[in-house]
Amino acid sequence: MKKEILEKIKNDLLARKKQIENELSGFAKEDKFIKDNYRSEFPDYGDKEDENAEEIAQYTDNLSIEFSLEKTLRDIKKALERIENGTYGKCAYCGQEIPEDRLMARPTSNACVECKEKLTSQ
Ligand SMILES: [Zn+2]
Repeated sequence: MKKEILEKIKNDLLARKKQIENELSGFAKEDKFIKDNYRSEFPDYGDKEDENAEEIAQYTDNLSIEFSLEKTLRDIKKALERIENGTYGKCAYCGQEIPEDRLMARPTSNACVECKEKLTSQ
């Protein structure tokens, strides 16, 4: 894999990581005890019944957003680790090089298309 492409992917991943961390910190706090885990804060709109209902609805939304952002964040961190230790771009299952266009489209992928298909069809 070309060094410039790897560099570009790394920068994209770092930018995306920052963006997600910003998004998460808007409604959640980083867990002090569990690595890479955030806790959604319960919103406070007021004490009226409709405000309480809104708080619960918002909190439920936050939890599902938090869950998916955390997952993406973990994938990004894993990809960055693979860049650091030189294993980025290789399929984790068969060891073949993952095509660059696939990595450009999905920089966090760690499997080639064939292995991915085998894994998801199981
Ligand atoms: Zn593979």
